[in-house]
Amino acid sequence: MLRIVIFLGIGLSLGIDRYFAQGPTGAPVAVQVSPLPTATPVVFSSQTLADLKRVQQAALASDYAYRQVAHLSNNIGPRLTGSAQAAKAVEYVTNELKAIGCEVQLEKVMVPHWVRGEETAALVQFPGQAENTTQKIVLCALGASVATPPEGITANVVAVRTFDELKSMPRDKVAGKIVLFNYPYDKQMAAEGNGGEAYGEAVVYRGDGPSSAARQGAIACLIRSVGGADYRIPHTGQTRYAADAPKIPAGAVTAEDADLIVDLVRQGTVKMKLVLTPQTLPDVESYNVIGDIKGSEHPEQVIVVSGHLDSWDLGTGAIDDGAGVAVSMEAANVIQKLHLKPKRTIRVVAWMNEENGSAGSKQYAKDHANEMSNHFSAMETDGGAGHPLGLNIKGNPEVKKILAPVAAILQESGAGMLHLAEHCGADIEPMEKAGVPAFSPIQDSRFYFNYHHTAADTLDKIVPKELAENSAVVAVAAYALANSEQPLPR
Ligand SMILES: [Zn+2]
Repeated sequence: MLRIVIFLGIGLSLGIDRYFAQGPTGAPVAVQVSPLPTATPVVFSSQTLADLKRVQQAALASDYAYRQVAHLSNNIGPRLTGSAQAAKAVEYVTNELKAIGCEVQLEKVMVPHWVRGEETAALVQFPGQAENTTQKIVLCALGASVATPPEGITANVVAVRTFDELKSMPRDKVAGKIVLFNYPYDKQMAAEGNGGEAYGEAVVYRGDGPSSAARQGAIACLIRSVGGADYRIPHTGQTRYAADAPKIPAGAVTAEDADLIVDLVRQGTVKMKLVLTPQTLPDVESYNVIGDIKGSEHPEQVIVVSGHLDSWDLGTGAIDDGAGVAVSMEAANVIQKLHLKPKRTIRVVAWMNEENGSAGSKQYAKDHANEMSNHFSAMETDGGAGHPLGLNIKGNPEVKKILAPVAAILQESGAGMLHLAEHCGADIEPMEKAGVPAFSPIQDSRFYFNYHHTAADTLDKIVPKELAENSAVVAVAAYALANSEQPLPR
């Protein structure tokens, strides 16, 4: 932020600087120095900058986004792809976007339909066990998991921390067993503000753990829940079966249960009974919901503002990602309420199927493949509803300089940081790859992964003021991009 302030300071002083020169009489005369050209041409007109401040204030004062996420999470509920609730959410957002005057299209996409079944586990043999007792294990199935037989499986447990540790074990130590990957989520890293990075490190075990265990003959695979939850609640999410390994049932035990199992395995033989009965049903037809405010000068140029409408099934999908859909809708709502006329088209997208396949974003990339040069920018909010610190930018580093005047406005609510990021969102990744400049709010990630993908992802985790701050960032960025006087370098 310091650098931005200095940059603006220099820009201002250039316009008003005078210096004194000697006149013919020797008397000093004031000489007006014509303003030097600034490093970049005018990107945001004074009218646009004034409008951005109005957009910001309107978004900060509005409860529209909160009411939207409240409806999605409380009235509709969990919105796992393929479910009746996901279909209801499509219908709801369609109607809401129409109500604020967007041109709405439903773009068809075929999506997977996985449903959770029974999920129970108990340790039936372990060192020091009291007679005729078991130890309950709290767990959930991972998305895409295949089922055990209805009566379950009973097998010894092998506990490892990493892939390398598993690979170093002879096959006969693993074959026929249940493998537990006990790789912990780094809470310290999250406390330092890098929740996404901590998540990224641990989540590879959810994706690749089951197939790597199956390659060594395991009959089921459990992982330590990814994330910082510490009230003994499991964390779901998609696993990814590799083509070269048998598909084995896969689940996540709570962090507490992972610790318990590891402690007992260290002492001797541990046998578990595991029942997981999820089902994969035939694919169903679903939709990305697309709502446009048509541009007044360049209607063919599109500013995508988005979140994903589907959610996991354990909670009600408030922070992941009802919030992202709601703040995107709010951007359109505020612009309409203020009767502003964006020069480019602002396109709200509520993506389907981010959580277990990304079918929606892949379909969009396919259907709009030859319009990518007209996609001026793409934004996604998918990091919860925590206080935003600024904007992530995936694109040409020049974009950061160009947006400095916008950052100065965003700093009014503490969101003035501009950060060049590797990646801005799962659903906009195909557009990032096609060279479209991508953005996302930088959101406080310290607590997000305590709730994400768990039964505790519920509306109460959203602080209305912080949600409105996110709306303001998204709305200001969207309107600034829509009314930029210059194209963004790619
Ligand atoms: Zn998400």
